[in-house]
Amino acid sequence: MTLFTRIINGEIPSYKVAEDDNYYAFLDINPLKKGHTLVVPKLAEPEADYIFDLDDKTLAGLMLFCKKVAAGIKRATNCKRVGVAVLGMEVNHVHVHLVPLDKEKDLVFTNPKLSLSSDEMCTIANSIAEAIEGIEK
Ligand code: AMP
Repeated sequence: MTLFTRIINGEIPSYKVAEDDNYYAFLDINPLKKGHTLVVPKLAEPEADYIFDLDDKTLAGLMLFCKKVAAGIKRATNCKRVGVAVLGMEVNHVHVHLVPLDKEKDLVFTNPKLSLSSDEMCTIANSIAEAIEGIEK
């Protein structure tokens, strides 16, 4: 079972941003920017590791879920736009990085990561979750 499946199952805590039957979004614990979010599909074992191994329906659904989460990130952080990246060099479970961008260099993964308190992470996650709910209404 992957780390991210254990997060989805609630065995490992996360700063949840959004969830539906098929996808789960939570804050990256080593964020490039405040609001840096990971979006993952809920997958049966063995979980797909590479995004382009997903079947078309799951891949399309993942992107639509990312669109919804990105709208919430943009509203909650007031960033210029939300950048999208797929790396997967560390965790072997398909995931999409959504990063609030104000300038091009905000999406450079070798940038130093922010160190945020648990309180700050909770506040950001809640503000994105509320923004998503506000948009959906
Ligand atoms: P990559 O597989 O290269 O896309 O990187 C995996 C990302 O997952 C990194 O940005 C990590 O900071 C992030 N990450 C690893 N463990 C956790 C965790 N327990 N909760 C949230 N994010 C995590």
